[in-house]
Amino acid sequence: VKFADLGLDEKLLKGILDAGYDTPTPIQAKAIPEALQGRDVLGIAQTGTGKTAAFTIPMIHRLSRGRARARMPRSLVLAPTRELAAQVSESFEKYGKYHKLSMALLIGGVSFKDQEMALTRGVDVLIATPGRLLDHFERGKLLLTGLEVMVVDEADRMLDMGFIPDIERIFNLTPFTRQTLFFSATMPPEITRLTQAFLSAPARIEV
Ligand code: AMP
Repeated sequence: VKFADLGLDEKLLKGILDAGYDTPTPIQAKAIPEALQGRDVLGIAQTGTGKTAAFTIPMIHRLSRGRARARMPRSLVLAPTRELAAQVSESFEKYGKYHKLSMALLIGGVSFKDQEMALTRGVDVLIATPGRLLDHFERGKLLLTGLEVMVVDEADRMLDMGFIPDIERIFNLTPFTRQTLFFSATMPPEITRLTQAFLSAPARIEV
């Protein structure tokens, strides 16, 4: 299977080919078609497998139609660290280079003011660490009730960092109608419980 066979938005396919990829990795080949159908996905995959594109590509496809409203992001990616959040934003920029998706990064070490201005303009893609996201929520600058897609990346690392209560709180601020794409390298019991509580009949993909 090639990226060209997946029925992707034309501009998105061009962005992927420009990046030098024509064949999906195994996690991408399994996860992208499920996500494009609108299904929830539980991806059990290590870093280096191409898991980032396994969620950014279907997200760009879905977000290529529609428009963001002020303070109501259309999608959210939760990542454990600033470094990983930055990596995810590079992936959106790479594959989404022919789209005009607006993006904001809510991570520590960046001024609240700049981040708030981005939220006020409206964002298609919000990428955040859990603590910083909740800080913005508490300041009243953010509503998650318009989310179409939510991603949790490297869930087991978030467990190690003590973020599970924050993630549960964030899930509870989002609409039931959202699509959820959830990735973890391992499945300890706390992560299994989280997926049982918040994913709806997910396609379970292990590589
Ligand atoms: P990740 O597992 O998401 O951290 O990605 C690992 C590396 O694989 C990144 O440097 C990507 O640029 C690269 N990559 C992602 N998708 C593909 C693909 N379909 N073919 C070859 N390399 C890829």
